[in-house]
Amino acid sequence: MVFSGTLVQSGNGKALVYATGMHTQIGRIVQLTKETTQVETPIRKELKRFIHIISGIAIALGVLFFTLSILLGKPFIASLIFAIGILVANVPEGLLPTVTLALTMAARRMAKKNALIRNLEAVETLGSTTVICTDKTGTITQNRMKVTTLVLGNHEWSAYQGGLKHAKGLEEAWAAIVLCNNVRLSGKTYLGDPTEGALLVFAQHLKPMDDLPISFPRLHESPFDSATKRMVTTHRGLGGQPNLAYMKGAPEVVFGKCKQILLENGLVDFDSAARQQALKIYERLAARGERVLALAYKTTDAAQASEEGFIYLGLVGMLDPPRPEIADAIDKCRTAGIKVFMVTGDYHVTAESIARQVGLFTGDGQVVVGSELENMTETEFLKVLDNRELVFARSTPLQKLQIVQALQQKGEIVTVTGDGVNDAPALKNADMGVAMGVSGTEVAKEAADMVLMDDNFATIVNAIEEGRTIFSNIKKFIAYILTSNIPEILPFIAFVALNAPLALTVVLILSIDLGTDLLPALGLGSEKPEVDVMKLPPRKRDERLLTWPLLAMSYGVMGMIQAAAGFFAFFVVLDQGGWVWGAPLPETGLLYKTAVTAFFAAVVVCQVADVLICRTRRQSILSAGIFANKLIWLGIATELALVMAVSHVPFLQPFFGTAPIGWFELSLGVPFALVILFGDECRRWQIRRGNRFVQRWLTW
Ligand code: ADP
Ligand code: MG
Repeated sequence: MVFSGTLVQSGNGKALVYATGMHTQIGRIVQLTKETTQVETPIRKELKRFIHIISGIAIALGVLFFTLSILLGKPFIASLIFAIGILVANVPEGLLPTVTLALTMAARRMAKKNALIRNLEAVETLGSTTVICTDKTGTITQNRMKVTTLVLGNHEWSAYQGGLKHAKGLEEAWAAIVLCNNVRLSGKTYLGDPTEGALLVFAQHLKPMDDLPISFPRLHESPFDSATKRMVTTHRGLGGQPNLAYMKGAPEVVFGKCKQILLENGLVDFDSAARQQALKIYERLAARGERVLALAYKTTDAAQASEEGFIYLGLVGMLDPPRPEIADAIDKCRTAGIKVFMVTGDYHVTAESIARQVGLFTGDGQVVVGSELENMTETEFLKVLDNRELVFARSTPLQKLQIVQALQQKGEIVTVTGDGVNDAPALKNADMGVAMGVSGTEVAKEAADMVLMDDNFATIVNAIEEGRTIFSNIKKFIAYILTSNIPEILPFIAFVALNAPLALTVVLILSIDLGTDLLPALGLGSEKPEVDVMKLPPRKRDERLLTWPLLAMSYGVMGMIQAAAGFFAFFVVLDQGGWVWGAPLPETGLLYKTAVTAFFAAVVVCQVADVLICRTRRQSILSAGIFANKLIWLGIATELALVMAVSHVPFLQPFFGTAPIGWFELSLGVPFALVILFGDECRRWQIRRGNRFVQRWLTW
């Protein structure tokens, strides 16, 4: 059977198409994927909640102000326009583009760092990861394997030792390596599995293999997979001789299928003593961090050899050094409060040796072998998962899924890596599935949320940093856009409660809202990660976008300062114009128009300061770089241009109800802006210093 989506690497043949579209294997998977309900990403839940609250506030205020206005005897239409103005002012128009921008920018930065995002919202999920379950081979290690040791019988040879070429048993071991192998050599490199590639490169070095595969054509193959951990091939014997079968695979598996061992003085029984000895050699190699495969062969009459009665030939040990950047990446995870568990199919001694080399194990971490895991009760298993340092060795893809699910049951947000077809369920079930771009199968990539173009663990850690930034940036956006609601609403309250002149018109409310909230706010979505994002623990599951401290800071502090700035400018202008409290102030008069424009200008000036302080949640603006975010400055330039246009362009004045203002009126808001700028700089300094009160009540 050739399934749709299959790539033919070489050769040719005739094929009969008997099904297409949804009736193919891929079609069935598509059907399955369609049927599984999409889990809601944390960020989607959060945004929903925020939108509900904000809509509630907006509608409530709109209704309230409409009623008040009617009660005050204003005409119906005027009251309605007013209510709509308030409503619109409270709606965060920029939310959607900002969220999309934040996600897209992060995805783009990730792509530059070799992490391809398949599901945009998953970017943020990655940021809330608490546990990473990672593969070993290729992810932690370089997947550039080189044979270092060859054991023939019970004799250990260094792979490139001279005497090896004439050693007893080499002929058979060499044939096993060459024939039980699916890699193609091309020049100095190879196509296919790195483990097999390393073997073939080594075999080639021992002696040229020429036409061996042609002289012994393959009759059957039981391919390698991570569950069976062995590969068996059957070949036709030369000129009427019996067929030959070769096996290579994980030593424990191969040992179990052998009944004899080839030693220097011929074949002997592979009894328990011989097995003990072989196991001892195996442990010795594994303890050095070597990946070990056992080789075996037998003669048979069948065209498909049974998996028993093999003759054990020896072991091949190869080293796959850890990637140099892994130790740092794991260290980063540790400071970021993220646990890293290694889940590998490799032998426990090898796995532990690598875990120590890269710093996954600092003290006495626990190694759990697949077979132990099978026999554990659920409570025992959950207890094991409390460990901070864990390695799962000789584990199967199904166990990977079990590990992921158990961790989720404990409330962890799990990121898991995988490459094989069998890994797809684990990738799908995890909060964040990460597939390998180089060594991964199509199925794994299809099931994943992110694909690593370089298969590198360190890339995941870089991506987490970006992911964490998103939540932060959306928060910054919210903190910023909420603030201007206060100076927009207070003039009306003052108008109603104190009988003060109305300091801001509906058109200007909308101008503040659309002019200052859109572009600068968008800029906040593209802020770079703060320097300490990876020094804090992962975001708590119950951490909200909209929190009381955030409301307190935006509405209670910054919004109030902005309103004060507006009123100050408004009354200074009126005072200079000779107006006294209670005197008539015609809405069409120049004095009123100038005062209203001054209010508007003061709020915009404060908004400039506000967007600058919202750029960082803990850092000083100096460490983030004052001019680092171009979009913010573009936004600031537009809002200042807006002030100029609204006050100075003659044909706009009647529409906005404004009048030209000079430098003096414009400067009235500046002291308040400075208070915002420096005040918040102090607040963030106190957060960094660890001031309990500020951290508890004034940190959003
Ligand atoms: P991992 O890649 O995490 O080390 P695998 O499931 O790929 O885990 O490999 C498990 C074991 O199977 C290896 O330790 C090795 O002994 C054996 N093995 C790996 N690749 C092959 C192969 N191509 N043919 C035969 N045996 C293999
Ligand atoms: Mg593998």
